[in-house]
Amino acid sequence: MMRAPLEVADVFRDGEARFLAEYGHTLSREQRQVLRAVIRCRTAQLGGHVQKCDDCGHQRIQYNSCRNRHCPKCQAMARAVWLEKRESELLPIPYFHVVFTLPHELGPLALQNKRVVYGILFRAAAQTLLEIAADPKHLGAKIGCLIVLHSWGQNLMHHPHVHAIVTGGGLSADGSRWIHGKQSKRRKPFFAPGKVLSRVFRGKFIDSLKRAFRSG
Ligand SMILES: [Zn+2]
Ligand SMILES: [Zn+2]
Repeated sequence: MMRAPLEVADVFRDGEARFLAEYGHTLSREQRQVLRAVIRCRTAQLGGHVQKCDDCGHQRIQYNSCRNRHCPKCQAMARAVWLEKRESELLPIPYFHVVFTLPHELGPLALQNKRVVYGILFRAAAQTLLEIAADPKHLGAKIGCLIVLHSWGQNLMHHPHVHAIVTGGGLSADGSRWIHGKQSKRRKPFFAPGKVLSRVFRGKFIDSLKRAFRSG
């Protein structure tokens, strides 16, 4: 017999009491809600409905989902829908991938000021890409990009970074023609060396952070 795969909800359920006893006082209201939502998602606790086949009369119970945006069960579906939508927007051109990361020292600051710091991170990344691409020294074109925030690394430690999917080329300033991007030594599309990107990004990020700090 195949054993059902272990879910995050099982881990939460199993460790809830011990976790709350030790760390409960450090949790925000929202974090408590997430814990409860993930545990109850698609269980009888959230209610449900009975689905019945009109032909054979077979019945099954479908429990309601929690719809919490941190719930892996709910997010798997949302992610599939999101991916499909983004895929339909892709142009028939090469794209490339850039990651902009914050140094670890800024992790606690970001955690305490998520809205401000993540906002700056998004803007600094986008402006860096748009500006360097527009520079005739590099590409001299208006590119498109999609940027996604990851606040956690693969080891589940807080590690804010953004992933950018960037068009390998762009529109000329007057919008009349497509300018093709260059290829890197490894034949990947790109328009500026990583060193250039990171220098500009760092400058923009620190600048905005200082300004945000001064204005409180
Ligand atoms: Zn859920
Ligand atoms: Zn990531």
